[in-house]
Amino acid sequence: MLEKEQVYKELLRCNKCGGCQVICPTYKATYYEGNVARGRLFLVRKYLENGEQALLKTPEIVQVLEQCLLCESCTKVCPSGVRTAEVVLHYRQQLLEIKGSKNKWKERLYRLAFLNKAFIPLAAKLAYYYQKYGMIPDPYQLRSFLSQYLDGQVLRDNPGTGITLPATGQRKYKVTFFVGCASNTFYHGAALVAINLLRRWADVTLLDNYCCGAPLLSLGAVDGFREVANRNLELISREQTDFIVTDCSTCASVLKQYPARLGVAAPALTKLRDLVEILIQEREHLSQVKGRGRQKFTFHYPCHLARGQNLKEPTQKLLDDLFGSSYQPHLEDDSCCGGAGTFGILHRDLAQKITAAKLANIQNSGAAQVVTSCPACLMQLGAVVKRLALPLVVKPLAVFLEEAMGESR
Ligand code: SF4
Ligand code: SF4
Repeated sequence: MLEKEQVYKELLRCNKCGGCQVICPTYKATYYEGNVARGRLFLVRKYLENGEQALLKTPEIVQVLEQCLLCESCTKVCPSGVRTAEVVLHYRQQLLEIKGSKNKWKERLYRLAFLNKAFIPLAAKLAYYYQKYGMIPDPYQLRSFLSQYLDGQVLRDNPGTGITLPATGQRKYKVTFFVGCASNTFYHGAALVAINLLRRWADVTLLDNYCCGAPLLSLGAVDGFREVANRNLELISREQTDFIVTDCSTCASVLKQYPARLGVAAPALTKLRDLVEILIQEREHLSQVKGRGRQKFTFHYPCHLARGQNLKEPTQKLLDDLFGSSYQPHLEDDSCCGGAGTFGILHRDLAQKITAAKLANIQNSGAAQVVTSCPACLMQLGAVVKRLALPLVVKPLAVFLEEAMGESR
């Protein structure tokens, strides 16, 4: 987390060139100068002159701070490398610390949800029945948003945490699978496919972990984030394993940030891999992929894969090697889909505008399927595809690969 002095240095480094305009998804959806890195930084700096409290109690500033996706696209193109997302995070943290902030309820809810392993699966099961028999008002239209993902099942209940599933092929090593909240509750089927993919060459054990902390971090709930991060670090450090793998690019990216954000050395995390990294490493085990001549597909590179872990190019190379011209990149294929954790729910209209623009690029590529490696992106893309009734299939990477190996269920 940036300290106040570091934040001010970031603000001063913006030379107002406007280079961030062409890349910022919130700006392109609104054409509002406050909704781009330059505008956000300018407003924050301007109001800082009246003191931090004035800044944080100004509704316009609060809104532009809340409506940043934290996608880091601006930093990538910024000639000064200004870390706008970190500036935004700093002020979200300040917002939470102001007594009476309307965000307090969110922090309490997030702490309850993400510091308690049983909460999200329980909430998902309740949401399943709510979705099925829903009789209470639904201001966020959560029911239609979640309807395609919930079926009352949870990954942890399935193979069970702590149990080792033996390799089905020649065992090369042992893997511990970090179970992300969204994979656990919304995409447990896809996570099982990922686990079975890994079992082709590894024994796989499910970790009884906590949430990676991404939702707490993006809210600015730094204490809560540190708490889950420390708990996860302790669990991971106890594991006698060759690799810790997760099928969620957001979890992988956030877990990799633990040492920097906690200010600790964490040697156990050197074993951490995004599923994508393991697939690149174990490319030989994907030889059964029948890639060429398949229906055209494209890949959405989640922010946490492309910028969070710098894995766009190696992933692209893997897809090119495996699928040849069946893989069709789309314009701005690493731009944020609008999901951004809970952004898709909390800023639904803006998020859906961003998603619709992304989906137009996907359709222009001629692809019939869009594949990705982050459950939040899968949910956001899937929900808007459904709402707009587009002829597109949104698919988790592991499921797509399993199908390409001729093992679709
Ligand atoms: S690209 Fe960087 S320096 Fe230029 S306006 Fe945007 S944040 Fe400021
Ligand atoms: S982090 Fe993303 S949404 Fe926020 S200002 Fe930068 S490009 Fe725009």
